[in-house]
Amino acid sequence: MSINTQPTASHFIDGQYVEDTAGAPIEVIYPATGEVIATVHAATPAIVDQALTAAKRAQREWAAMSGTERGRILRRAADIMRERNHDLSILETYDTGKPYQETSVVDATSGADALEYFGGMAATITGEHIQLGEDWVYTRREPLGVCVGIGAWNYPTQIACWKGAPALACGNAVIFKPSETTPLCALKVAEILVEAGLPAGLYNVVQGLGDVGASLVTDPRVDKVSLTGSVPTGRKVYAAAAEGMKHVTMELGGKSPMIVFEDADIENAVSGAILGNFYSSGQVCSNGTRVFVHTDIKEAFLARLSERLGDAVIGDPMDPDTSFGPMVSKRQMEIALDYIAKGEAEGARLVYGGKAIEGDGFYMQPTIFADVTDDMVIAREEIFGPVMAVLDFTDEADVMARANDTEFGLAAGVFTRDLTRAHRVAAGFEAGTCYINTYNDAPVEAPFGGVKASGVGRENSKAAIEHYSQVKSVYVRMGDVEAPF
Ligand code: NDP
Repeated sequence: MSINTQPTASHFIDGQYVEDTAGAPIEVIYPATGEVIATVHAATPAIVDQALTAAKRAQREWAAMSGTERGRILRRAADIMRERNHDLSILETYDTGKPYQETSVVDATSGADALEYFGGMAATITGEHIQLGEDWVYTRREPLGVCVGIGAWNYPTQIACWKGAPALACGNAVIFKPSETTPLCALKVAEILVEAGLPAGLYNVVQGLGDVGASLVTDPRVDKVSLTGSVPTGRKVYAAAAEGMKHVTMELGGKSPMIVFEDADIENAVSGAILGNFYSSGQVCSNGTRVFVHTDIKEAFLARLSERLGDAVIGDPMDPDTSFGPMVSKRQMEIALDYIAKGEAEGARLVYGGKAIEGDGFYMQPTIFADVTDDMVIAREEIFGPVMAVLDFTDEADVMARANDTEFGLAAGVFTRDLTRAHRVAAGFEAGTCYINTYNDAPVEAPFGGVKASGVGRENSKAAIEHYSQVKSVYVRMGDVEAPF
């Protein structure tokens, strides 16, 4: 092992590593081998309290600093992350099993992008002046206070930064609880922020399962909760946050449609379908897992797709040539395999893959089903694995109605050479994040998030500032005050 995967301690609170072995042990498993590579302990109530106390104290001073000062620290952290990209990518691969080929260009790099973007924006966060005759109102854009981030396991570094960077830029303090499956990477984000000059207490990491997340969400000292997770967890966390009238951002699951029209560039559409179904072994929330292909090009599309899947290099995720790694956990692999069995039982045509791969680690084949119909379970439920469902269509209005016939609304994509059709379809999608002739790009400059059951609020871009700050109006009267008596 080229880097030490056992962290100094389980938690990072008030600028330093903190341990409390009274918390239940959580074993961290390397998905490529099934080996235990680290053990951390779930936060006890004392640890949660320590994090909240530190965050509450530190936030006031941080909010009093200028945006330029806050931003400088975030930008310095971005530079450090980029310098350490190699080691951070290896750790991300140990934590998640995603191939180094991906982690070296996606995870710490996109985390650094968020720190740099929001660091640059911190100084531009201002209120406005509203003239009312002689009187006037000015607004102050103020931080919310203590923000809790709760992460999923698929992008542990990126999620820690996507939530942390805008929150800190706006003058908040952060407590981040990673998924118990991937507890390692967020600790490195905390370390780097402190090294970059972030005052102690502003970015804390506490480990644990859902109960630790729940105890944070219900604490009266917490002002905002941002969750990346599944829809069922989202419902619970949103309801708990509502009880305390807290702000929320919910980045939840999806079953997103990708529509490939008969005039599409087939090679690009196949590339989009690969990115939207098999990157990170299919464990991406915005994946376009319902691929509607016009019947005129269906067989050509499937043939080329199968050919391209044959080029996937499945194996050791640390090998830079590997392009398809294991699933994050045995459980997640079993969930995906169970859906494959359901697809076969419901009569979908298995075109490619469909099996677990023998050996250590949680490997399974990238899988394609064709002749999938709208009512099949594999077309309705989020699988969160490398299982693509290809559905037929002939008519635009019909396919749009079918594409939108889902409780989810995270993402959607269209492949066509017809300019007006592309924009008409994008406008018709009931989804927060849409793609024309591409799929799954997520630059920090663009808002990212869902509609319907897929979420509330937006991450990234200027839109995130709205979700990590609040507006105060100050009315200023220049003349005398008139009162009725
Ligand atoms: P989960 O919903 O199971 O968990 C998400 C996080 O919430 C974990 O840290 C979990 O802790 C925690 N949690 C669970 N229950 C509670 C609770 N009652 N109160 C507070 N926190 C709780 O999701 P997964 O980790 O399995 O991630 C996969 C899901 O995430 C998929 O559905 C996917 O679509 C979605 N996702 C969405 C993204 C988006 O941006 N829209 C991006 C990536 C993933 P623990 O796991 O430790 O128990």
